[in-house]
Amino acid sequence: MAILGAKTFQNYIGGEWVDAASGETFESTSPANGDAIGTFPKSSREDVDRAVAAAKEAYEDWRLVPAPRRGEILFRFAQLLTEQKEDLSQLMAREMGKVLPEARGDVQEAIDMAYYMGGEGRRLFGQTTPSELPDKFNMSVRQPIGVVGVITPWNFPIAIPSWKTLPALVSGNTVVFKPATDTPTLGERYVEILIEAGIPAGVVNIVHGGGGEVGNALVEHPDVPVISLTGSRETGVEVTKTGADRLKHIHLELGGKNAIIVLDDADLDLAVEGIVWSAFGTTGQRCTAASRVIAQERVYDELTSRLVGAAEQLRLGVGWEEDTDVGPVINQAALEKIHSYTTIGQDEGATLLTGGEVASDNGLDKGFYYRPTIFGDVDAEMRIAQEEIFGPTTAVIKVRDADEAIEVSNGIKYGLSSSIFTRDVNKAFRAMRDLKAGITYINAGTIGAEVHLPFGGVKDTGNGHREAGQAALDFFTEWKSIYVDYSGRLQRAQIDTAD
Ligand code: NAD
Repeated sequence: MAILGAKTFQNYIGGEWVDAASGETFESTSPANGDAIGTFPKSSREDVDRAVAAAKEAYEDWRLVPAPRRGEILFRFAQLLTEQKEDLSQLMAREMGKVLPEARGDVQEAIDMAYYMGGEGRRLFGQTTPSELPDKFNMSVRQPIGVVGVITPWNFPIAIPSWKTLPALVSGNTVVFKPATDTPTLGERYVEILIEAGIPAGVVNIVHGGGGEVGNALVEHPDVPVISLTGSRETGVEVTKTGADRLKHIHLELGGKNAIIVLDDADLDLAVEGIVWSAFGTTGQRCTAASRVIAQERVYDELTSRLVGAAEQLRLGVGWEEDTDVGPVINQAALEKIHSYTTIGQDEGATLLTGGEVASDNGLDKGFYYRPTIFGDVDAEMRIAQEEIFGPTTAVIKVRDADEAIEVSNGIKYGLSSSIFTRDVNKAFRAMRDLKAGITYINAGTIGAEVHLPFGGVKDTGNGHREAGQAALDFFTEWKSIYVDYSGRLQRAQIDTAD
């Protein structure tokens, strides 16, 4: 695929490409340099209604397609994604802003997920157990639920849709997908490739548009029993409230305020590398980004000075140039929010060690660039140490010992990722047990999950569900317990067992 000139795109509903019922559109532009990427339908409830009706109709056939056949479509999808990995990565660098190695990682994650979930077509294991009664057979099976509403953010525009749609599909559900309005082209390409892989009409539908309109209409729709949302805490709360009246199954992956602990005995070279990667990779716009560093007293000075040195070496620029380390942030509002936290941090009395400004030299004024920012002398209760900034800003907090480090790491409302650098195996195991987070890394930063393990967080990061691995199947299926009594007589459970 050639890199796009600005092109007009449509929704995909019931196997057909269609405009929004209103005829309205919105634009996608590059955060790197403002280039137009594409024009998209600005959809509304009417479009959602059509897509849900198509998905509901398609469900009746799709749920009966043998799961291994559904899995084969996912395998083909994985192959097509692999063939198109470079084109998609180039597009991602333009539409979302990621640097190329990370964009390739984003696509690779979807490839991994497609192979993993494709394999589930031949597993989707249930259980068989002995019965408490004679001549009776017991088993449990996973069953699909129906139409799944998939609502995704812009920061992993290929990977996150794959975490949700692929387990949903292999389990026999159909999907209405609403991608983020900042990355609609990638959402659109994702669906095009699914179609090319052989997904039947109506099984996957895409409806473009805003969260308040399209997203909300999906959450309110009586024929969408399942919603999987990745986004901010505020959106998660809103979606939960809206879905409550219909007792929807709602899966939430929300924000984070993740910390890396560095103890006195840590390998400092490794810790610095891990922190720089976790704090400034994806320009800090990962839910797992390390926006706090918790340093033990003896290493604090050395660590902060090395971090500042490393951060100042990072080259800002457009993501598609191979020597760029840090790309743009997603849009003007994000740039302003990130900068407002620099002011907040300074007002709170933290020391700005480096960065703290919009970068506009060497043509960067055409996009949304922010210098990698490090605060020192941060108190654990300051807003910069408590609130999700979602940008290239990290706050270094000094602590006395491992106990205080764990307490500070846990002292936030979120609980997604966590990390500790130490050579002391006892302290590492205590951290594995005591860090309140869905993910703990030992001697690695906070970012970089693998698709065959559960992904998600505790506390305000979610509502108890997980993506990826076997855990994802628990959300997209319901258990049915089946009892086959071949005794030819009435056998009453719990009553006739004493015979
Ligand atoms: P966002 O909450 O603004 O939007 C996420 C999606 O929800 C978008 O598609 C948006 O249009 C939609 N939406 C917004 N309001 C809605 C409503 N009322 N009803 C239905 N849908 C609605 O988040 P964002 O800015 O796109 O993404 C950044 C956030 O996502 C950060 O908080 C980040 O931590 C979080 N995130 C979490 C994970 C995770 O796995 N835990 C991964 C990536 C991002």
